[in-house]
Amino acid sequence: MSEINNPCMTCGACCAYFRVSFYWAESDESGGVVPQELTEQVTPFLSCMQGTNSKSPRCVALEGEVGQSVSCSIYLNRPTPCREFDQSGLNGNANQACDRARARYGLPPLDIDLATIDLNHLSCV
Ligand code: SF4
Repeated sequence: MSEINNPCMTCGACCAYFRVSFYWAESDESGGVVPQELTEQVTPFLSCMQGTNSKSPRCVALEGEVGQSVSCSIYLNRPTPCREFDQSGLNGNANQACDRARARYGLPPLDIDLATIDLNHLSCV
């Protein structure tokens, strides 16, 4: 599977649009995998990725330029919301949150036909 078939690798809008918050115990200092030093406490129960609790969010782990070429520097240790966020079109399902994030960067909604891509190689950045 080439990178061309994975639109997330040329997008990254979701990593620079939402607050990426999760249960605090997902951090590596609490038994999880997310690097603690890249997180910020939001409430007694929630942490978020640094950079995303902002009016102009951008996750500290996002590398590259949104809409051009991006990657996640902690891909294998990313938090639950990143693992559960599907690109629009996956399995034939639209994801309006994906569409909104892309629109913020002037990117059109993904084609629903992208559901045919190889799931073994699918990753959201
Ligand atoms: S996938 Fe990686 S870069 Fe994107 S929001 Fe999650 S941790 Fe940050």
